[in-house]
Amino acid sequence: MAQTGFDNDFNKMFFGTPTYPSVVITDPDLPPPAIGMNGEGEDGILEASQYNVDHLRVSQPHQTKSQPKKQQAPQPQHVPAPLQDQLYLKRGDVIGRGSFGTVYRCLDLKTGRMLADKEFVFESTGVEQQIAATEREILIMQQLQHPNIVQYMGCQRSGNILDIFQEFVTGGSLSKLLATFGEFPEPLVQVYTKQITEGLAYLHDHKIVHRDIKSANCLVTGEGIVKLADFGCSKSIETIMSYGQGCATLCGTPHYMAPEVIRQQRNVGRRSDIWSLGCTVIEMLSGKPPYAEIKNATACIFKIASSNESPPVPKYASPELKDFLGMCFVRDPIKRATARELLNHPFLSREYSEEWYTMDIDDE
Ligand code: ATP
Repeated sequence: MAQTGFDNDFNKMFFGTPTYPSVVITDPDLPPPAIGMNGEGEDGILEASQYNVDHLRVSQPHQTKSQPKKQQAPQPQHVPAPLQDQLYLKRGDVIGRGSFGTVYRCLDLKTGRMLADKEFVFESTGVEQQIAATEREILIMQQLQHPNIVQYMGCQRSGNILDIFQEFVTGGSLSKLLATFGEFPEPLVQVYTKQITEGLAYLHDHKIVHRDIKSANCLVTGEGIVKLADFGCSKSIETIMSYGQGCATLCGTPHYMAPEVIRQQRNVGRRSDIWSLGCTVIEMLSGKPPYAEIKNATACIFKIASSNESPPVPKYASPELKDFLGMCFVRDPIKRATARELLNHPFLSREYSEEWYTMDIDDE
């Protein structure tokens, strides 16, 4: 097994001396992402060079006004500390494979904690600039810290191999939980949805569009804390990996895609994530995303782009949840709710009686 010793120069470049404590960082100076923000232009993902990290401030974790009373969501407190200057990682077993890379478990020999190492092997040539830009993006993403996003810890480039180090999330993805335990009762959907929305609100406050919200990208700790994975640089990597294959912009499952994403309109942005959030909520509730019965990707794309209907919502959902989903599935992204608005939605503070855990969900 390979042991990677990072020299000081590398560490200064990619990890630096930590100047921020391991608490939540929010940016109160950014324009409020909520009401009236037009998706056009300003709402798109920023290039790494456009991020201004100097303005990141330490503040208390964001609190919403309404808190669930009966079923308490886990209170996410912990965000991992930055890596130390001297980093020694020992690579272990493969924990997963994505469309483009392999994920390994790593042991940090200095601290004893575990990390996830996503390794990408670039076969295309002429993508040097894009890889350098991706490295810069990771450097920026490292400075974002929130209990509901997977912490970026740095990266290492060696020839055509790029390793991205992240917080290791023990419980796997929500999609794996769904495959193991089946669809979730609505009270649990509420618990997870609140955390996904918190993570999204934090990213959106920092003008970062996730662009691939789905249950496979929501990882869960053993304590039930949901963390959003694959934000920031994942699209850059996808673009580099698909270079020359002609599918750089519309790869992956279309079931979670907002109509404006499929139509490749200019107003793709933060609110496109909200549509995907709605699809993920339906998946948690019913075990499958909207239009799962349409297996053909082109047919699914056509259905979402051409239909004027909202994705079907299970009949057994509570009125509050139906209303929440209605706000996610507004077709015009400018009129769609923001993550911060959704955090105050009654669904996220609704109380549930015991029957909701054992409800027969036959939707026929
Ligand atoms: P795709 O690349 O098609 O979107 P994916 O999101 O599942 O698929 P990866 O992000 O490469 O692909 O992840 C592959 C697997 O590795 C996932 O099943 C996930 O459970 C696991 N994994 C990814 N990141 C972490 C992490 N930080 N901690 C623990 N497990 C992880």
